Formats: sequence, C-alpha cells, structure tokens
Amino acid sequence: MKRRNFLTKSALAAAGATSIASCVKSEEKSQGPYINFNNTYRWKMTTTWPPNFPVVGEGCQLMADWVKKMSGGRMEITVYGGGELIPALEGFDAVSNGAVEMNHGAAYYWTGKIPASPFFAAVPFGMNAQQMSAWIISGGGDKLWEELYEPFNIHPFLCGNTGVQMAGWFKKAIETVDDLKGLKMRIPGLGAKVLEKAGGTPVLVSGGEIYTNLERGVIDATEWIGPYHDYLMGFYNVANYYYYPGWHEPGPALEMLVNKEKLESLPTDLQEIIRTACYRTGRWMGAEFDARNGQYLKKIIDETDVTVTQFPDEVLERLKVHTKEAIIEITESDPASKKVFEAFDKFKKNVGGWMDVSERVFYDKIM
Ligand code: CA
Repeated sequence: MKRRNFLTKSALAAAGATSIASCVKSEEKSQGPYINFNNTYRWKMTTTWPPNFPVVGEGCQLMADWVKKMSGGRMEITVYGGGELIPALEGFDAVSNGAVEMNHGAAYYWTGKIPASPFFAAVPFGMNAQQMSAWIISGGGDKLWEELYEPFNIHPFLCGNTGVQMAGWFKKAIETVDDLKGLKMRIPGLGAKVLEKAGGTPVLVSGGEIYTNLERGVIDATEWIGPYHDYLMGFYNVANYYYYPGWHEPGPALEMLVNKEKLESLPTDLQEIIRTACYRTGRWMGAEFDARNGQYLKKIIDETDVTVTQFPDEVLERLKVHTKEAIIEITESDPASKKVFEAFDKFKKNVGGWMDVSERVFYDKIM
C-alpha cells in the first residue's frame, strides 16, 4: 500500500523526466530507496568455470542478460570465465574485498578458508539437488550459510545444482573394495578424503590436464560431472568403465556470492531482481543438466564401447563408512562445521522420511 502511494503516475513522470526526483524513497528507512532511476550499476561477475563452460558458464551469461532486461538497462553485469579477470579460485576473496561484486561457483571450493563450506555444496552420501534446495530455501540452511559468510562481507544465494553426478571413469573394473586400494584417482573435496581412507590415492589434477593424465596412466580414474560434460571431455576414448552413482557429489549446490555491502546499497528493486535472477538461473541450470545428461548418457551407451555400470553395493557401503569417519574428524575439529552438519543431518533425516514414500517409491515402482 505504502509503495503504491509513492509510485503515483506523477512521481514516476517527474523522476523520469527530470533529475529533481532522483529516487523514490520508501518510508521504511532501513530498506533504502526502492528505485533509483538515474544510476546505472555496472557490476562484474567472476566464475570458477572456464570461459563459456557448458550449462554453468552459459547460465551466468543468461543471468546477466535477464538482469539487464528486468532492470530496464539500469543494471549491467559483465561475466568473466575463470582466469579471464582473476584466477579461477580467487572469486571468494575478490567478492569479499569488493574487487568484483559477484562470483559463481560452489561452496566446497572455499574449504581451506571455511571448513564448513562443503555442507552448502556437496557432502558424500549427503542430500540430492531437491533436498538441498528444500534445506537451503525452506529448511533454515540459508540463514546458516549467510551467517558463515557474513564475516567475509559476502551474501550467498543458491544458484544452481548439477544434480547427482557420476562416480567417474575407470581404466579397470571395480568389483570389490580391494580394487580401490592403490587406485590413483582425480577426485576433489571430501570425496578425496574418503577414497584415501579406502586405500586409494586421490590426485589433484586441473580440468585441462585430466584427459592426458588418464590417457597416459598418470591416473587410473577420474570423476568429472555427468554424461554431458564427460562426453564433451572425450573420456570414453581413454577409459572403459563409467560408474554410477556419484556417491561423492549427490547434488552439488552452486552458489552466487554477492558482496554484501554492495548488495545492500542497491535500490530494493534491483536487490530483488538479483535474488529472482539467481533462482531462475539456478532452475535453468538444473533443468539443463537433467535434459542434456539424459541425451548424452544415451549417446555414450549407443555410440561407444564403454561399460556403464553401478558400483557394487559392497564398495558403496565401505565408502559410506569412511564418509562417516571423515565427517566426525571435521566436526570434532571445527565448531562451525559441527553446528552446520547437525542442522544438515537433522533436515536430511526429516526430509528422508517424506522422500521414502514419495520419490523413492515413484522411481522404484512407477517410473
Ligand atoms: Ca565432480
């Protein structure tokens, strides 16, 4: 009601026609101006992805286009691929100190700085995309996440999810837990810790070097994303076994980091446009992953000699045991991780009861 009073035709006309009314103010002072017609905001968005990376890089560019249209051209965001403006994994610091306003990536990239961050991206045997969204949007996860980043002057928005990933590409079959022993595998994050506990050797390899390392036997296996991106990488040429499910990344949430001070200094309509664009972009990315993965899984099965198969139950059970051990180590050494994990785990159990009678039965009996 109050807002309508301020946005009368004459107020809009005056603001549009002259510089006398440079902004239309809300009575609620804490909210700042609703609309500032005179300023154009030019923001920079860095990403942890290679330039024009399928789905996620494309999505970031779409978001910039949508924001420009929704704001009537008052907000322009320039998107940079990893390495174009700053190194790929320096986005958190750049947003924190205001060198750039936004960064798209995933929370587990900041584990070295914030040990609890992976709970907002992916935890082995954790929650899938649907459950992560429910936790972050409606289960209180957002508040914990905001609290975690607040000391860094950063506000996180959920902005995408890859969906369940694949376990990865292996040169030899994995038939028992013993086959994991001595296995040199490119696998990042908490999954690396778990593989190590199972006797494997996690190896850090940047995206651009995985193919050659796998081809030359420097590594025996690699995980990447899902059928679409994996197909584009050509891994089917150098590894014969493609395993599922991605136990280590059951539903990696993607994030849009925004410099908190700059976000709060925006007129409130632009703040809502950013928030809304993050949701739309995230939904688009999730839909795109599912649609392309379906298409490319079929291509891999139909066009290559690769064996696409599930990890044996025994292997998954062992990895699950080691995951519990790894999480205990993290939560015991970091109070923030303990707090976040307890909320994560409680939500997972509650939503799990519902998923048991809905999604699980649907997939098992109906689809
Ligand atoms: Ca991955």
